[in-house]
Amino acid sequence: MKDYIIHDEWRIIEEGFNPDNNRISESIFSIGNGKMGQRANFEERYSGDSLNGTYVAGIYYPDKTRVGWWKNGYPDYFAKIINSTNWIGIGILINDEELDLAKAKVLSFSRELDMQHGLLSRRFVAELKNGNQVEVASHRFVSIDSDEIGAIRYTLKALNFSGNVKISPFLNGDVCNEDSNYDEKFWKEITKEIDGEEGYLVIETTKNPYQTELFRLCTGMTFQVFKNGEVVNSELANSQTEKYLEASQMVSVVDGDEVVIEKITSTVSSLYYAKDTLLNKAKEVLAKAASTGFDTLFENHKNCWLKKWETSDIKIEGDVAAQQGIRYNIFQLNQTYSGKDERLNIGPKGFTGEKYGGVTYWDTEAYCLPFYLGTASLQVSRNLLVYRHKHLQKAIENAEKLGFNNGAALYPMVTINGEECHNEWEITFEEIHRNGAIAYAIYNYINYTGDKEYLASQGFEVLLGISRFWSQRVNWSEEKQKFVMLGVTGPNEYENNVNNNFHTSYMAVWTLKYTIEVIDYLKKEFPYLYEEMIPKWKFNEIKETSRWQEIIDKMYFPYNDEKGIYLQQDGFLDKELVPVVELPDEELPINQKWSWDRILRSPYIKQADTLQSLFWFEDEFSNKEIKRHFDFYEPLTVHESSLSPCVHSILAAKIGYQEKSYEMYLRTSRLDLDDYNNDTEDGLHITSMGGTWMSFVMGFGGMRVKNKRLTFNPFLPETWKSYSFRIDFGSAHLEVKKERNNFKIINHSDVEVPVNVWGKEYQISGNKIMEFKK
Ligand code: BGC
Repeated sequence: MKDYIIHDEWRIIEEGFNPDNNRISESIFSIGNGKMGQRANFEERYSGDSLNGTYVAGIYYPDKTRVGWWKNGYPDYFAKIINSTNWIGIGILINDEELDLAKAKVLSFSRELDMQHGLLSRRFVAELKNGNQVEVASHRFVSIDSDEIGAIRYTLKALNFSGNVKISPFLNGDVCNEDSNYDEKFWKEITKEIDGEEGYLVIETTKNPYQTELFRLCTGMTFQVFKNGEVVNSELANSQTEKYLEASQMVSVVDGDEVVIEKITSTVSSLYYAKDTLLNKAKEVLAKAASTGFDTLFENHKNCWLKKWETSDIKIEGDVAAQQGIRYNIFQLNQTYSGKDERLNIGPKGFTGEKYGGVTYWDTEAYCLPFYLGTASLQVSRNLLVYRHKHLQKAIENAEKLGFNNGAALYPMVTINGEECHNEWEITFEEIHRNGAIAYAIYNYINYTGDKEYLASQGFEVLLGISRFWSQRVNWSEEKQKFVMLGVTGPNEYENNVNNNFHTSYMAVWTLKYTIEVIDYLKKEFPYLYEEMIPKWKFNEIKETSRWQEIIDKMYFPYNDEKGIYLQQDGFLDKELVPVVELPDEELPINQKWSWDRILRSPYIKQADTLQSLFWFEDEFSNKEIKRHFDFYEPLTVHESSLSPCVHSILAAKIGYQEKSYEMYLRTSRLDLDDYNNDTEDGLHITSMGGTWMSFVMGFGGMRVKNKRLTFNPFLPETWKSYSFRIDFGSAHLEVKKERNNFKIINHSDVEVPVNVWGKEYQISGNKIMEFKK
């Protein structure tokens, strides 16, 4: 845990330079626009410890995997979004000495991320070995208005010297991934050119034995140097090496002179343009941006951010740390995924580090979808579903590799292109609850948006594949006279290869029921489309659905009568059920302090497992039942996945444990700002940020969508004066405000909105405010 970020409502601020925190800050101050992302590396060269990270959405490399004991069905590679051309670089030489904060004396330093406008700034005063002191202010952003553009304004003031400053903006494609399995470099140069202050570098991913797509990337830069407000016209030199180019300009300065470098870049990839047109495209995009200029580019970018905040902001009165925390989560979610392209998704670390390779997990469906449903247009969340629909064929092939047939689909645990990339058997083959999360997301999306057309065109096909998988994955137990689900790993990865994990079995049965419901709906509403589905999928409706119904009727769920709870898995009660509070502090986190053997035999739960089902299907359990399960499982939960506290926070709110709900919320909301798990240096916990949003809106706000109606059961944490959040629902846009003794809904749209507040139904007319008292 760290505590060096200064609290502020809209800004993330770091004061003072501590190289030990540099990697953490590089993650925290990351910027992105859904299409590319950039860690907060320095523009000038830095020889100290740093993780360079420039990522372009969808641009990956299939890194050969390392495996001890190969198993059939394992993937050949781990696809990862790779470190790409560094476009931020500006080399600075002051009287022949390199400006490098690892070598200079840093007299003052601050970093600031303005979340309202999406701007990263850095200021410092440094003294070089030659005694020259320089003051620097840098500002940069990646535009969300024009998402192929990055821009930097770098201001340098000579404080106590005269002489020469050599400025060398560069593009560097000679980059690698720290986590590459065989120390390979993934890029080769195609071409480059530099003329005056304008340069372009085209690189392509190296050939790979897996026949995956080779991506090409072109990055362009142009820059202009000013001294005391006047353009500097001194001669330009350039130099080039493999995958690298720079232009240099010498500026002579005297004490007090201010030199400004404006560097604008374009990044275009073969994901969007034909390879042989990339260079021209990068030129075209750059020329347009350069003629627009830094100030106007920023103005446009800023206005887009202000618009995003209009539909997604959450305000908290009375707690600046909490305010900063929630805005930070929203900011990072909006930086990571814009929903414009159905081929893109949300990696657990977004574009802020290498861990998890920037690829897709069940996190997207389980933890992120609700944020985009509630704060963005329908297309944004729909694209997350389309992503999986596009991977359906691969999911079917994936299941075939494991011996399933007849169109059964098993979605990968980890993927970018539909291929499974995970290679630990107890997860790859056994953590199959992920299939359920993908089915549940379809339900969640339709429940929220009412977009049932999606079911007919795509949703049904995904549900059919998943249902077929469940129907083959269970087996009949003669002994129990029930269907059982053997050899699985639930969301709690601290026990593997267990039998009858409640959550997995529940997801299976629920999916089968939902798919049958969807079939009935399609037959009524889209009979022609449904008729087409039957031959397309060789669907024997009577035979297949009667098997599903049998499973629904006869599925086995481990249950303990005495405790009145469903068991996480068959053998759960054989464990020594010592609550987490009784573990000595020095043994936590157990994933760092204990052997795996000890963890697997322990009762400790990494993240919501049985409680995940109770959260998703709360209406199928009474409040008393939810309470009994919460009281049993939460004390055994170590919350060692960042995805854990949010689910517990929402359930705690539901059963009236307001303090617990708030405690769990605090663990998620400032997770990265305070480096709670000592791992922010690897990148931010982007997908858990979706969970933070859920715990706010669904936990404190008690918001659900039931029967096409928004329902609220809000409460206000004790230490806050008020909070408010924004919600998009159909064509309505609402602001929801909870004060100590009052609850208010402001309808910012023209349409009437049906709501339910504390159990009573109301209609809120367009542009009206309604107040409620309990
Ligand atoms: C969690 C998984 C999650 C993954 C990526 C793991 O630690 O247990 O549920 O999908 O991280 O966030």
